[in-house]
Amino acid sequence: MTVLVVGAGFSGAVYARVLAEAGHEVRVIDKRPHLGGNAYDFTDENGVRVHAYGPHLFHTKLSHVLDWLRPFGRFLPYTHKVRARLHDGRLVPLPINLDTVNEVFATAYETPAQVSEHLARIALPIAEPRNAAEHLYAKIGQELTDLFFRPYTKKMWQMDLEEMSAAVVKRIPLRMDREDTYFASDETQIMPADGYTALFERIFEHPRIKVELSASFDKSALRDFTFCFNAMPVDEYFGCRLGELPYRSIRFHKRMEPDGPAPAAPVVNFTDAGPFTRETVWDALPNHRVRETGRRSVTKEEPCDYRDNGMERYYPVKTADGRYQTLYEEYRLLARDEPNMAFIGRCGTYQYLDMDQVINQSLAGAQRWLAQNREA
Ligand code: UDP
Repeated sequence: MTVLVVGAGFSGAVYARVLAEAGHEVRVIDKRPHLGGNAYDFTDENGVRVHAYGPHLFHTKLSHVLDWLRPFGRFLPYTHKVRARLHDGRLVPLPINLDTVNEVFATAYETPAQVSEHLARIALPIAEPRNAAEHLYAKIGQELTDLFFRPYTKKMWQMDLEEMSAAVVKRIPLRMDREDTYFASDETQIMPADGYTALFERIFEHPRIKVELSASFDKSALRDFTFCFNAMPVDEYFGCRLGELPYRSIRFHKRMEPDGPAPAAPVVNFTDAGPFTRETVWDALPNHRVRETGRRSVTKEEPCDYRDNGMERYYPVKTADGRYQTLYEEYRLLARDEPNMAFIGRCGTYQYLDMDQVINQSLAGAQRWLAQNREA
């Protein structure tokens, strides 16, 4: 069969490769001029590899996802670290751990039991948290919530913690020990040795895959294909006829600095109420210094509504009342009636997914489709 894949990010790449290997002809289009979707990276004028849409850190527990990905590149072990900058300039570990608690409360705890006891004392008795604020209050109390989560979440989502789903902040674990890596619960944390874009080039390198960049989706193209896997925003496909599915976007502010010593962590999150959420020093990531220039690149992130950033969709919005997921469900029902098309990926399925989850879902979806089409 001849299959159209709309979107050259992780979801489209997995579908394209799996279907091509199974003998199907695949045409991939992407409206952007580059591969990789939001994982796209490039070497900038300072000789540094920069992720164009913010830091992408690969982490997973899923061995089959790794088995699928590994043949397409060399990977370096990399355990990501983040520090939060307090109002007085001190940098403390994030996720909150034993050292964070000691810094904030001027305690000298040595054991996880002491930290648990402290947090149990300051946590609020909320049996069934209904939103992100209540979830955090029940775990870490008001002071830590208001320091590490309230301003950041407001900047990130333009909403108070009370309005956000707890699922969003549950991405950040709570540690009672001195563990200070961001994704410690995932066994595998790796970085592609020569960048994500090179990884995508190899995934798409197959005699039955043709990729066309700077190519927008047009419904009339569908007549040339027997099936379409579509990573475009599902509301956009239907002309937003049921209303818009909102996204947060990011404006990236890059600056150049003279090369210097390694920072405390490649990413620093800001706890203040200013417009910026975090900052990345790119050469602090492994193999990101591509050429010596004596300069380094640092990017600050300023979240905004996607309509204020050229409709660049990065983060689907998950509120405590689930109103946008309800709207997405209505689009999903419409999409079910669309012949020979399946919506995939973050924008096609309106989910806040990590890279490994996208690969996992796409592998499963592609296998399901292959099985159905073998039977047909
Ligand atoms: N968050 C926060 N303070 C932080 C880091 C995260 O309040 O210092 C909250 C915020 O609501 C954010 C969510 O936790 O959107 C998830 O953070 P994560 O670091 O997973 O976001 P991503 O890396 O996907 O942008």
